[in-house]
Amino acid sequence: MTTAMVHAAGVRKRFGHLEVLNGIDLDVAAGEVVVVLGPSGSGKSTFLRCINHLETIDGGSIHVDGELIGFRADGGRVRHLRKREITRQRREIGMVFQQFNLFPHLTVLQNIVEAPTGVRREPSARAREHALELLRRVGLEDRAGAYPRQLSGGQQQRVAIARALAMRPKLMLFDEPTSALDPELVGEVLATMKSLADDGLTMIVVTHEIGFAREVADRVVFMDGGLVVESGPPSQVLENPANPRTKAFLSKVL
Ligand code: ADP
Ligand code: MG
Repeated sequence: MTTAMVHAAGVRKRFGHLEVLNGIDLDVAAGEVVVVLGPSGSGKSTFLRCINHLETIDGGSIHVDGELIGFRADGGRVRHLRKREITRQRREIGMVFQQFNLFPHLTVLQNIVEAPTGVRREPSARAREHALELLRRVGLEDRAGAYPRQLSGGQQQRVAIARALAMRPKLMLFDEPTSALDPELVGEVLATMKSLADDGLTMIVVTHEIGFAREVADRVVFMDGGLVVESGPPSQVLENPANPRTKAFLSKVL
């Protein structure tokens, strides 16, 4: 048993004959911010998707807050969770993608209260109050009535973050949240994420923003070929990487 918020052990995933995750081991403590770096195709997105039940795994195990997530190859047998369990677990894990995926026909406020009032059956007054508080937190309290198309990409991504937080997740996963943004809009999204980290939220962030990793991460993990090849404090992994593949990658992105 473990007290880690995320405990991944020997996680394997393949698509057909393509082995994408080859035995990922990763522990993330409550309140920890882990930045995941790695070349395109190394399995970063797939790993996040496995944590959030968007993919099933073929081997190993993932626990979130002590609970088994998804499927597990267990001595040759696969354990299936009930659909209801999966739905409940997914609600407790927030995810923010490169594409913001806001509902275009709903206002900012409606986008945020949609899941809490629908899925969680929160009373609408309470969900609304929480949404406004979250909009303050992401610096958009004055845009509650706007539609997504009236917002910049950076503002839309901040709404997407508020929407994920509305489900009161115990863990937030970010998959290249600033990669689709114009360069001048990246900073406001990273600043929002930094403030969440400062508030003690547990976060796994896939990003190529090395400055964010250096400043905000408690730990930096480097993935290559479906494996965690290096993990340590940012100062160590970024300034003095031990693994030649980490070195080669950093020399390209820095
Ligand atoms: P990263 O996020 O590090 O760029 P991904 O996890 O997206 O890497 O992808 C890892 C590998 O898995 C890539 O070779 C990708 O083409 C492949 N892959 C990802 N999703 C699927 C899928 N649904 N079906 C088949 N192959 C996939
Ligand atoms: Mg990816």
